[in-house]
Amino acid sequence: MTFFVLHASLKHCGPFSCTNQRLASGVPRQNLVPNIPEKPLDMSEPAWIHLAFDPQCHFCWAKGVRVVEWRFRVRICGKCNKIHMTTSKPPAKDSTESLIHDMVPQRSSKKGNSTYLIRDYQAVAAKYSAITSPEDSKTFVAERKELIKHIYTHAEQCEVCAVQSF
Ligand SMILES: [Zn+2]
Repeated sequence: MTFFVLHASLKHCGPFSCTNQRLASGVPRQNLVPNIPEKPLDMSEPAWIHLAFDPQCHFCWAKGVRVVEWRFRVRICGKCNKIHMTTSKPPAKDSTESLIHDMVPQRSSKKGNSTYLIRDYQAVAAKYSAITSPEDSKTFVAERKELIKHIYTHAEQCEVCAVQSF
């Protein structure tokens, strides 16, 4: 039994927390755990378990945050949402801001806006601005775009799984 399965069978507080209800209906809890997507390649197992099963805000540790922002890999309470997330129109095409914007996990919002974590944007902007050679810049952009694809694909799997578990 992996740590992940063990942890999942001991904790019941994430988007997959209905395992308790399923147990009441007679389905063994551990039979549901394999439906949970594998840990993403770029996350540690403890971080993944914390995200999937611990209903705490990742910024202020408020309890009872059941919704996971899978694309951002955080749980965030309403109060912290206002501080740490932003929603804006995408920057003008062919600008550095647009390039950075496209390398940051985000989701669509109303009126053509996109929402993302401010710290994600700042981290990518800092790394990108520290690059000095065009080759390194090209490599960084390509790697970020691959990572974003992986994050979105994995987030979709998590969203489907979380919906199915309710
Ligand atoms: Zn919070």
